[in-house]
Amino acid sequence: MSQNNFIPVNEPLLNGNEEKYLVECIRTGWISSEGPFIKQFETQFSARVGRKYGVAVSNGSVALDVAVVALGIGPGDEVIIPTFTIISCAAAVVRSGAIPVLVDCDPITWNMDVDQIEARITPRTKAIMVVHIFGLPVDIDPLLTLARNHGLKIIEDAAEMHGQTYKGQPCGSFGDISTFSFYPNKHITTGEGGMIMTNDPILAEKCRSLRNLCFKPEQRFVHDELGWNFRMTNLQAALGIAQLERLDEFVQIKRRMGKRYSKLLANTKGLQLPLGKTDFADNIYWVYALVLDNNVPFDAKEAMSRLSQHSIGTRPFFWPMHEQPVFQKMGLFSGESHPVAERIARRGFYIPSGMALTDEQIERSVTAVKGILQ
Ligand SMILES: *Cc1c(COP(=O)(O)O)cnc(C)c1O
Repeated sequence: MSQNNFIPVNEPLLNGNEEKYLVECIRTGWISSEGPFIKQFETQFSARVGRKYGVAVSNGSVALDVAVVALGIGPGDEVIIPTFTIISCAAAVVRSGAIPVLVDCDPITWNMDVDQIEARITPRTKAIMVVHIFGLPVDIDPLLTLARNHGLKIIEDAAEMHGQTYKGQPCGSFGDISTFSFYPNKHITTGEGGMIMTNDPILAEKCRSLRNLCFKPEQRFVHDELGWNFRMTNLQAALGIAQLERLDEFVQIKRRMGKRYSKLLANTKGLQLPLGKTDFADNIYWVYALVLDNNVPFDAKEAMSRLSQHSIGTRPFFWPMHEQPVFQKMGLFSGESHPVAERIARRGFYIPSGMALTDEQIERSVTAVKGILQ
């Protein structure tokens, strides 16, 4: 089958002011993190999310590393996180020296099961890391109450939630610290990139310092603490500003894509489709995800391999944290079982969902999905 017929799982749209702003970086010579687009992007994106401070970093994973350390979390502490998420969440906790404590996910929204959290709180719990999955936000109000009652911090991973709201408030506005990623499959991209958001000036300063090797303003090469070089470049911020100009349009494109897929795939036997909406949000379909029913005689791996023979790009779901060899080797999560995450990891995958996807590509993807299920 010819390669140019292949439908990639993701393709970004870069046909706004991206080129213009990038050329400006090159013409002015501002290409490092000292360039003017960084501040502009931080200010504009935090205004959009309704936060006082934004700290741009090199990706969404390190945004979580900085968030955990900035909150003073470390050895002896526990952080409650979903088992069904990207490894970045657990890695940030483990690297800080703290212990990630897992909860399973909801079988319909695939978000962390909020009802399982309270039972996992111990005297060592310092924070709950809330991760919004695939396009629908976690039901966050009960979590905010829980956190208040137990004196816990909220870290909100909003990497898949640009432009999404929960009960009308922007996702990314709920955590003591919230984080975003601007990887090319997110709703807006900077190639690689991330941002940390907070309303607390001290936390914001701490994040800025951790991002920049903890240089001391008064004596540059003397360090009281260990930081990282997690700075974003002006080139990345240039892309970010151009993308942000179109965020509303991008959310519309994704919602339209999701609705179209759901309409064309409705009543297909053997498939669980994403939920279109909950009481507090309409899906923004970061990805268009499918889960095979138990009576389908093959798993996601086989489905993805069959779809690739039809030139359809796919990706598997996240693999649960308690089943990660790297954490098992560390002695973490031994004997734990989280059946919903285990099941969807094996039976779930997503189909082409990028911003540049055409109607014709959606229709071809749907025909292929129906074809492999017959
Ligand atoms: C993409 C993503 C990240 C990581 O972001 P990168 O920029 O790829 O490092 C973190 N958390 C979630 C939920 C994500 O989807």
